[in-house]
Amino acid sequence: MPGTRSSVTVSAPGKVNVSFLVGPLGADGYHRVASVYQAVSLLEHVTATATDEPGISLSVEFTPGSVLASQARRQLDTGVDLLASIPRDATNLAARAAALVLASSDWDGGVHLQLSKAVPVAGGMGGGSADAAAALVACDALLGTALGHRALARLGEQLGADVPFALLGGVAVGLGTGTELTPALAPVPFHWVLVPARFGISTPQAFTALDEHRRAVAGGAGPDRIPVPAPPADVLHALRAGDPHGLAAVLHNDLQEPALTLAPQLRPVLAEGLAAGALAGIVSGSGPTLALLCIDEDDAEAVATSLGHRDIPAVPVTGPVGGAQILSRTGG
Ligand code: ATP
Repeated sequence: MPGTRSSVTVSAPGKVNVSFLVGPLGADGYHRVASVYQAVSLLEHVTATATDEPGISLSVEFTPGSVLASQARRQLDTGVDLLASIPRDATNLAARAAALVLASSDWDGGVHLQLSKAVPVAGGMGGGSADAAAALVACDALLGTALGHRALARLGEQLGADVPFALLGGVAVGLGTGTELTPALAPVPFHWVLVPARFGISTPQAFTALDEHRRAVAGGAGPDRIPVPAPPADVLHALRAGDPHGLAAVLHNDLQEPALTLAPQLRPVLAEGLAAGALAGIVSGSGPTLALLCIDEDDAEAVATSLGHRDIPAVPVTGPVGGAQILSRTGG
C-alpha cells in the first residue's frame, strides 16, 4: 500500500519502424502486420503519485528543452496546438493504463499522473503508447501489484498495438497486430535524425488511405486479400550486422505513400534530409515524423545542424535503447 504522495517516475521510449509491412485487414478491423520496431533515445517520462482522492488525474507538459517544447510556439503560430489536443481525461492512454493497474490493486485512494512528453504527438512514433507503458510500470511499482512483465504486456495489448513494444524496448519483430513480439539482435547503435512535423496524422486515417489505394489498384481485390507478411530477413540481417548502409537500402514502410499523400509537404523535407547527407529517410509509422538514417553520430549531428539552418526542426537520436524503466521513487 503506498503512502499518500509517494511517487514513482518511469521513462519509456518512442519508436521508429525500420520496416512496416501491412497485410490483410482482419474481420476484427485490425490489419495483420510484420513490423520491425527500434526504440530510440527520445523518451517520455511519467510520474505516478498516490493521492487520497480516489480516481485518476493527469497533467501534461512538453519536456522543457525538448524539440517538442521549442516547436510548441510555432505550432500556435500556425493555429495547431498539439499539447492541447492531448486528452486530459480518462481517455488518455496513460490514464487507461493506470486504471487497469488500479483495478487489480487494493489501494482505495487514487493516482495522479504527470506526463512529460518528448515524443511527437500524433507523430507515428508511439508517444501515447510509451506513456501507457510508463504508466503501467509506474503504477505497478507504486501500488505494489507486482504484476510482472508478461501481465503488464497483456494489459498493454488492450490499450494499443505499440504498448507491448514500449515496455520491451530494444529491437523486436511484431506480428499479428504488432503485439506478438520477438526480440531481435542489434548490438551496434544506429544514428538517426528525427524531423517532427508541426501537425499530426491520425493512424486510422493513414491505414484507410492505404486500403483505399489497394482497392483502387487491385480492381476490386480488396485489402482483405493481401497476404500475411513475414518478417523481412534482409532488415534483420542489417540490424544484426550493425550496418547502416545495408539498413538504409532496405528501410520500408507500407504507410509511407499514404502518409505522403495525406501530407505532401513532407516530400521536399525528405529530399532535404538526403541532400544534407542522410543515407536514407523514411516516414515513421503512420507519420508525419521523418526518420533519417545516418552513418554515425558525427554525420547525424551534421545533418541535424544543416536542417536546422534551413529552419527544419531536427533532433539526432540513437537506437536501440531499452524499454520502460523505473528512474526514481520517493516515499513509502
Ligand atoms: P500510434 O501509436 O497510433 O502510431 P502516434 O504515435 O501517431 O500513435 P500518439 O502521440 O500516440 O500518436 O497519439 C495519437 C492520438 O492519441 C492523439 O492525437 C491523442 O488524441 C490520443 N492520445 C491519447 N493518449 C495520449 C497521450 N498520452 N499522448 C498523446 N496522445 C494521446
